[in-house]
Amino acid sequence: MYLTDGEISDSLAAPLNGYPQGEDIKLHFTTQGFSGARLQLAEIMLRELDQELEFLDGGLYDNRLKNKNWIIERQYHPSCNFLARVGGKAGRYHIELSIGAALIALSASVELCSLQENSPTSELATQYSNGATSIESLFPGVTEPAQVGEEALGLALDVCLLLYLHEVAHAILGHCDYNSYNRSASSDEIRALEFDADFNAGAMFGLWVQTLPADYRKSKDFEGFLKRLVRASFLFSTILKAVSGRSANYHLPTNRMIAFLSGGAFAFDRTDKTPKFESDDEGDSYWSEKVSIHTESIKAALERSTLKEFLANERDVENDFHEIFNVTHGVRDSLKDGPLMKFRLNE
Ligand SMILES: [Zn+2]
Repeated sequence: MYLTDGEISDSLAAPLNGYPQGEDIKLHFTTQGFSGARLQLAEIMLRELDQELEFLDGGLYDNRLKNKNWIIERQYHPSCNFLARVGGKAGRYHIELSIGAALIALSASVELCSLQENSPTSELATQYSNGATSIESLFPGVTEPAQVGEEALGLALDVCLLLYLHEVAHAILGHCDYNSYNRSASSDEIRALEFDADFNAGAMFGLWVQTLPADYRKSKDFEGFLKRLVRASFLFSTILKAVSGRSANYHLPTNRMIAFLSGGAFAFDRTDKTPKFESDDEGDSYWSEKVSIHTESIKAALERSTLKEFLANERDVENDFHEIFNVTHGVRDSLKDGPLMKFRLNE
């Protein structure tokens, strides 16, 4: 019994031992024709991601799981779909992240970064042919791994960290246990669980990601770090919407971003990174300004990209936002104060 995010895989193959490289990648992406620089780039992405997840897993275990004798294991799923899933119960969980999730995140990041104004990687903006999107056609024009630049690699890694932390959140908040205890959860309940996982993934991102050891991954200042959370949560939600079609499980990307950021805001407030606000209104306008500043260039790039059809229209966003306030918040509160209390990892 799994909670699954993304495009359900047709492959029931066993998870891999260790992180995928070389033949493991080629074997599952036969239609992409990976070789040379593109294969090297895929290997770099998976290696960097694995190192970061090892680091975060260590912190999670030491700070949260060890005392309660909980375990969360992590493996890679040999699927080329954008997919992650978490299963288990009673303090024993496992998370599987697909190879496709890492490489699709990279491909979409490469495209969007290349389409931003004055992009140093603008030569990669026109790699796609025959109407393929950057989710279907993985960085076909790359001839040197270094060509994609640290901005795109960093954005892709951040997207994968949010996906992983979202699965961690499903485990530690008791969602997996609740799911096996109540197999007929309503769609409002499922959306509330997804919203809850997004909020907590944002909080974990805010608390831990700036401590990653690699120099090129350290933001110079708080504003730079905040920008990463805004952009990664926007791209993550956009990819998930694109690959899960008209899934009713999720709110729209612009609004999911608010769930991730609310979690981030909670973490930043706890660690005194943001100003103290006199009122909720003051806090709301601070955050909406940050969202607007930091999404401007990636939204403009998305409008020019092969993924433009996944940009939701404003009226849908507004209706979906009301749905969050009128339904999802209440359902989430009643789950949190009710059945999830006995399943979750308590402090
Ligand atoms: Zn989920």
